[in-house]
Amino acid sequence: MEELRNCSSCFKVYFFKGVIDMCSECHAEEEASFKQVFSFLNENPQAGIDQIVEATGVKEDLLFRWAKTRRFQASHFPGIGYPCEKCSTKINQGKLCSSCIEDINRELAIFEAGRKTVSPAPERKTTYFSTRSNRKR
Ligand SMILES: [Zn+2]
Ligand SMILES: [Zn+2]
Repeated sequence: MEELRNCSSCFKVYFFKGVIDMCSECHAEEEASFKQVFSFLNENPQAGIDQIVEATGVKEDLLFRWAKTRRFQASHFPGIGYPCEKCSTKINQGKLCSSCIEDINRELAIFEAGRKTVSPAPERKTTYFSTRSNRKR
């Protein structure tokens, strides 16, 4: 199943085979960059994005993409992160930083609490009757 597509990196037309969204040249180039970054990281596991860019010349965007697709194990390379989708804090897992996740959970809790206080009006009556009937026994 081959289809013609534009390379996501150089926009040249190439045959898409269902996995790699790049032409073979760009993909080979990216793989070479990845190997370069990876060997640098093995020697400097604490290195951050800035240091990697400086040492290897690989673009930050590419590093973010690899970090997001988990080509780098966050547990091995704590210096590698990509921006949180909400506040741009550097993170190395998921899409949001822990404080944004907390914010969302808080908002969600408020929302849930709001729903609970609004809806149970008819329910309250039934509980009232059932407690009364329980008491009678
Ligand atoms: Zn290309
Ligand atoms: Zn955030």
